[in-house]
Amino acid sequence: MRLIESDGKRLFSKYGIPVPKGTLWPDIPPQVNHYVVKAQMARGGRGKLGGIRFVKNREHLIETVNTFLLQGLAGEKVEYVYIEEQIDIVKEFYLAVTMDRDIGALSIIATPQGGIEVESSSSAGLLRLPLDPLSGYQPTQGRKLCSMLGLEGNVAAKVEAIAAALCQLAITEDAILAEINPLAVTTDGSVIAADAKVELDPNAGFRHPDRSGYVKTEEPSDFERQIAKAHSVGVEIDSGGNILGIVSGAGAMMAILDLLASHSVRVRAMVDLGGTANIDSKAMEIILEATDKLNPKAVLIAGYLQTAHCDRLAQAIVDGLNRKPLKAKVLVRLKGRGDDLAMQILGGNGLVAERNLANVIQRAVEIASQRENDHGDIN
Ligand code: GDP
Ligand code: MN
Repeated sequence: MRLIESDGKRLFSKYGIPVPKGTLWPDIPPQVNHYVVKAQMARGGRGKLGGIRFVKNREHLIETVNTFLLQGLAGEKVEYVYIEEQIDIVKEFYLAVTMDRDIGALSIIATPQGGIEVESSSSAGLLRLPLDPLSGYQPTQGRKLCSMLGLEGNVAAKVEAIAAALCQLAITEDAILAEINPLAVTTDGSVIAADAKVELDPNAGFRHPDRSGYVKTEEPSDFERQIAKAHSVGVEIDSGGNILGIVSGAGAMMAILDLLASHSVRVRAMVDLGGTANIDSKAMEIILEATDKLNPKAVLIAGYLQTAHCDRLAQAIVDGLNRKPLKAKVLVRLKGRGDDLAMQILGGNGLVAERNLANVIQRAVEIASQRENDHGDIN
């Protein structure tokens, strides 16, 4: 879960990382002459989009806030606006702690070119320091970091303390990203986090009941909520799509999305039943009810099961469809353990059933590209 800047900065403060004086609108930080007005949205690059405005008085401040709230930014609604004291920046760095999936550990990442989006710049000049999962941050890493950033003395000591605190935050809060871009050095030699981008690992939510206090940036849709009731994962993808997939596992989901995308098929939504597709007819009924509400033209159910049983999934599909018949064409692909029996069960109930994924993808492509007024039978 991605935190808005304001929540990210509160978390920074909690760990002793200096941030500019700031409040969430309608509060205004007291005793401030020059303000920065910042649209709070779960994406970076707001500076370039005009989401960061510098204002010199309260009238201009209120005007700017109202513009954000009424007009949004880059086509997106702005619900929260953060008001900060403007700081005098002389130098900007990039400093982050992020989960490095290649080595399976948190890593410090830094570059002297702060401010810009590092992901879009080259990785040359990027320092990576993996954290030992047992011993965590080491002071020698802080020194390496400062020598790479070309820092000495007081400023270096402050950056080292911030790096240590950022590591502590990432570990304690189960963050997969804690990013400061820019980490700003000001005219008076302070080092301040001018921005905060924090992403928390949703799988560690059970360890952090206090997370409910953060502003929610991604509300699950009705569809996603319904699917969760069937202990599966629903993902709405493209409101203009007309094909819906129900698949066994996230890998299968990605592969099928890729296949459909390569045929320019727009996918309305996906349901991940999990790799074992261990689903009973009641859960299948819930999934089919939610599916029907999205009005897809075709529903592609695809399972590739080795330890679980295709025939059990086939039976759940048949029973589920008896309880909740769909308006959409249903295409089923099952392969693996028990697929002979699965084909019998599905075929006996008049369903299109295949072992070959390419065949059902082909059918889905045909249905997706049919015009609305074309009622011809594609069988
Ligand atoms: P982002 O574009 O969404 O990453 O938003 P940031 O919060 O990082 O702001 C973009 C840029 O605005 C920063 O890189 C800074 O150069 C500048 N900026 C933000 N806050 C301040 C501030 O208080 N003073 C000054 N001088 N510049 C700021
Ligand atoms: Mn930034």
